[in-house]
Amino acid sequence: METHLADFMRHTTAGREAEEILRRCVHCGFCTATCPTYQLLGDELDGPRGRIYLIKQVLEGAEPTEKTRLHLDRCLSCRSCETTCPSGVHYSRLLDIGREVVEKKVPRAGGDAFMRGLLKNLLPRTTVFGAAMKLGQSVRPLLPGALRAKVPPLSSAGPAPQRSHARKMIALAGCVQPSMYPNVNGAARRVLDRLGIQMVEASGAGCCGAVRLHLNAVEASRDDARRNIDAWWPLLEAGAECLVMTASGCGSHVLEYAHLLQEDPDYTVKAARVVFATRDISEVITAEAAALGSLLQHCAPLPESQKSLAFQSPCSLQHGLKIRGTVESLLTAAGYILTPVADSHLCCGSAGTYSVLQPEISKRLQVNKIAALTAGRPAVIASANVGCMGHLQGGTAVPVRHWIELIDERLSS
Ligand code: SF4
Ligand code: SF4
Repeated sequence: METHLADFMRHTTAGREAEEILRRCVHCGFCTATCPTYQLLGDELDGPRGRIYLIKQVLEGAEPTEKTRLHLDRCLSCRSCETTCPSGVHYSRLLDIGREVVEKKVPRAGGDAFMRGLLKNLLPRTTVFGAAMKLGQSVRPLLPGALRAKVPPLSSAGPAPQRSHARKMIALAGCVQPSMYPNVNGAARRVLDRLGIQMVEASGAGCCGAVRLHLNAVEASRDDARRNIDAWWPLLEAGAECLVMTASGCGSHVLEYAHLLQEDPDYTVKAARVVFATRDISEVITAEAAALGSLLQHCAPLPESQKSLAFQSPCSLQHGLKIRGTVESLLTAAGYILTPVADSHLCCGSAGTYSVLQPEISKRLQVNKIAALTAGRPAVIASANVGCMGHLQGGTAVPVRHWIELIDERLSS
């Protein structure tokens, strides 16, 4: 796509990157077919090709309006379009560039600005969010239905392994996961311990920064990345094998650190090393598949009534990290029988803060996803991302678990 950037973009790093991305797009429109918002709304401007045009126009000097911003706001950042695109258009990067420009040119006001400010400041602050979540959990039965659906019941991380191992891996605790689903990292810690690996969390690390990036607070998101790198660095230098991500949304974002910090000379090399060391927990466990297989041989068989499972592959796992089929293989090896899930490439509507900011579209996607997941009458739904877990559980009575919790339970049987 031929592009003539306006002066304010032409000689910037973001401008050069946007031009490169735009040049790859051949307007074929294949991506619209797999875009969840285009499927629901039927408007070209609510699909990837339309949004690419909007961003191109803005970068060429057209004045964006609130309508431009709305079409960009409605994008889930699910990256399904990237998976479909035959030309390798890196849409999500273009979206980030476009959103940052539009945000500055069309500032928000009123309730929208307030809500985004609240989310930006509350979610990444682990202690404050944890206290708010605890309060919500203590009065959960009294909460109105919509709010109750976003507050999981109080739970614990379970027993912590007492052994130490020479092999160490660094886990990201994250921002909302420790208070919403503490057992996810608890289960990962126990499974890794059985495999002879000690999982450690770096004090000082916190939110990966995805929340702030998706709310267009790019500089604050860079600060999150710098703080995490500083916290992880001593452990990497001391010989930790890798960084383990138990939330695919966080893992997908940490892989962007080198790009995010490309203009910060103090962090470019460190960020590249962090990216190189980052693994999703499914990749870590798959690398230990032989050891896991022998442990599973000594487990009690899974009862028939618990065998059927529907796996929800989060967008961040399949489109962001491009990990497909890995978790499914691990669950099958653990004795589960996976039920078919139609349209598994489509987003569940959680998408970070999307379910709060675009509740109607989010709800429609949740209903569709739950219908697809429960069509095979599974005993349990498994996911790989904290946001999806909470969002899905808010709409179904079928238990929604992180798959590593299920592996942990199998190894304990
Ligand atoms: S599929 Fe790729 S090349 Fe085709 S319109 Fe979409 S982004 Fe452009
Ligand atoms: S990221 Fe998802 S919602 Fe956004 S344009 Fe691409 S497919 Fe559509």
